[in-house]
Amino acid sequence: MEIIKKLQRNQLYPIGNGWTKKTQPFRYFMVHTTNGNQWSNFMNEVNFLLRNKSKNKYGAWTSVSAHYLISKDGIIYELLDPDKYVAIHTGLTLAGRSNKYSLGVEMHYTPGEGRFPAKTWYALTWLKNQHPNLIPVTHRESALPKGRKIDPSGISDSQFNYWKTHLHVPVKLITVMQTGNIRKQPSIKSAIIETLKKPEQFMVYGDPETSTLDGGTVGNNKKWYYLNGVGYVHESITQ
Ligand SMILES: [Zn+2]
Repeated sequence: MEIIKKLQRNQLYPIGNGWTKKTQPFRYFMVHTTNGNQWSNFMNEVNFLLRNKSKNKYGAWTSVSAHYLISKDGIIYELLDPDKYVAIHTGLTLAGRSNKYSLGVEMHYTPGEGRFPAKTWYALTWLKNQHPNLIPVTHRESALPKGRKIDPSGISDSQFNYWKTHLHVPVKLITVMQTGNIRKQPSIKSAIIETLKKPEQFMVYGDPETSTLDGGTVGNNKKWYYLNGVGYVHESITQ
């Protein structure tokens, strides 16, 4: 897949705000969503993360930033080189998870925009696997006081935990066809969670050849996909 576009804050603003020099390795891979205006323009979000600054309560110039911003199309923008710089994205956190210790990854998504985009998940997975030693954490589980942050929005704790424990498993994108039924279990006897009104892409786990699992038979086919925390679909309604 398409991968990283480098557009680095430190090149555009060699002196200024939004970063400090890195002095030690990161331990965490902290995942955020931008949570700006719904359906905001992606390049505006890029520009915001590159250029924003404001005065803090002590009158000093400050700024928020991130190392990466992932688009809804799964393109990863590198805004700050994580080998050299610390970004400003955590605020107050649990011990040992502050900016100095955490690589910051933003994803372009705001609550109310529907299901979390599959291509963004996919790109996040790729990016995490470029940093195998870092521990993935959400901003909301790291921020203090508890409840101060809700992001990454659109990803539940159980989806995040499933993702975190399946990083060694290959992922792929599949499309479920219009009117496709997503079910609670891999069987057409199982309850329908949702019927799709238009074709939709999902990320699924597993080797591309064997990413299906066996479930209830439809025709002669018992192959089903697990849609990343959403539910199950029969292979015959995918492409
Ligand atoms: Zn955040």
